[in-house]
Amino acid sequence: MRKIHKILVANRGEIALRVMRSAREMGIPTVAVYSEADRRSLHVRYADEAICIGPAPSAESYLRIDKIIGACRLTGADAVHPGYGFLSENATFARKVQEAGIVFIGPSPESIEVMGSKLAAKAAAARYNIPMVPGTPAAIADFEEARLVCRQIGYPVLIKASAGGGGKGMRVIGQEDELPEGMQRAISEAASAFGDGSVFIEKYITSPRHIEIQVLGDQHGNLVYLFERECSVQRRHQKVIEEAPSAILTPEIRAAMGKSAVDVARACGYYGAGTVEFILDEEKNYYFLEMNTRLQVEHPVTEMITGVDLVKEQIKIAAGEKLSFRQENLSITGHAVEVRVYAEDPRNNFLPDTGRLQTYRRPQGPGIRVDDGFEQGMDIPIYYDPMLAKLIAWGKDRAEAIERMKRAIDEYDITGPETTLSFCRFVMEHEAFRSGNFDTNFISRYYTPEVQERAATEEEMDIAAALAVMLSRNDTPQPAGQVTSSQGSKWKVTRRK
Ligand code: ADP
Repeated sequence: MRKIHKILVANRGEIALRVMRSAREMGIPTVAVYSEADRRSLHVRYADEAICIGPAPSAESYLRIDKIIGACRLTGADAVHPGYGFLSENATFARKVQEAGIVFIGPSPESIEVMGSKLAAKAAAARYNIPMVPGTPAAIADFEEARLVCRQIGYPVLIKASAGGGGKGMRVIGQEDELPEGMQRAISEAASAFGDGSVFIEKYITSPRHIEIQVLGDQHGNLVYLFERECSVQRRHQKVIEEAPSAILTPEIRAAMGKSAVDVARACGYYGAGTVEFILDEEKNYYFLEMNTRLQVEHPVTEMITGVDLVKEQIKIAAGEKLSFRQENLSITGHAVEVRVYAEDPRNNFLPDTGRLQTYRRPQGPGIRVDDGFEQGMDIPIYYDPMLAKLIAWGKDRAEAIERMKRAIDEYDITGPETTLSFCRFVMEHEAFRSGNFDTNFISRYYTPEVQERAATEEEMDIAAALAVMLSRNDTPQPAGQVTSSQGSKWKVTRRK
């Protein structure tokens, strides 16, 4: 056991704040690092101390290992939490932090290394009989060999970069004549984007659901799973809406996937918080995809249904404590949904739309959690991910969580940049989402700005019709002009933006 006295959070925005909040509850002081663009950010103001580590571009600040370790030395921080993104899955960073005598709040550099390569991860998992998508177990560069493999597994196939991440480095090949060019491109793209041209082939599952399992392990060999998160609503292979539990898992599949996830973690001697990702086909067979060796963006939904503060657990594990619970102590209470609110314009192909937050009013009330790093009047920097906030709703069941989410989206008052809130509301209302009958093709299948516009107009017409009925009954709750005014704040009339 090693007592942690001060934690430096090597990140920015909502996740930096989220980590600092747990540290504060544990009585541990925190240090923020920031770039020149983030001087007035909330994470800087929240921390007990703050150090500027360079200019706005991440490569000159948040990705500078030397500056972060220097900031630890300067402030006497004896532990580093990497958050997600930036250096969180960089084994060299974890190693250098440890070599400097500082606790890395995360898994060992060795675990990060193994799981950072999709192929090495599969090789480690194979020892435990984890179900895998049919495909090549190693990198493949020979076209003839690839052709034979693809014939065996059947088209469509997916060519994936071993070092890929964030939904990048994947290419679907529908038929054999697309293979030569597709493969060549995949290899050169992987080499230029990830510095490693290794690619492999997987059967492309046409109607998959993305279901991932949260695991926690201590440094004494204890491992548990904290159930699943359903992350099938994706845009370009990136998650936009997540929920826990999944609407379709049976207790048997949940237990089987939980066990497989723990086995994957065991395969690489894992400790800390991690996520084992699977895809599920239409027959509910699950296949291992990869493991993320850090806190996930969508971790709050797990916290809401289990009551476990994952960041506190990460800190305790890093300090060498044993897990204070066993698998049988964990259970699911209620249902949680998270939407990622981006400063992007859903009516314009989700193009980033930065600028000043002229109005910024968060939703509140029962079952609502907002993890963000902004306040009214702040500018959204162009240098980083355009995620404004994560809005999370908990309910006693899925239906209540969805209704709460709709209510919270309506309360969320943001003017200035366009946001994805209207799109999130579209999903909450969609029959396929509400019924639980959806897969990763949800957005490409159902979403166009016109559809959203039509749904919004229909709702406005419903409101207008209801008003007409009220007025004809001479039953006006408030002056009609106020209600129908298009200038009115959404706090007067709840309407979709
Ligand atoms: P990344 O590391 O880039 O996130 P993943 O392997 O986790 O890549 O896959 C991201 C997403 O891509 C999955 O959630 C799923 O939607 C899709 N995907 C990955 N592998 C397959 C596959 N074999 N068949 C169909 N979809 C897949």
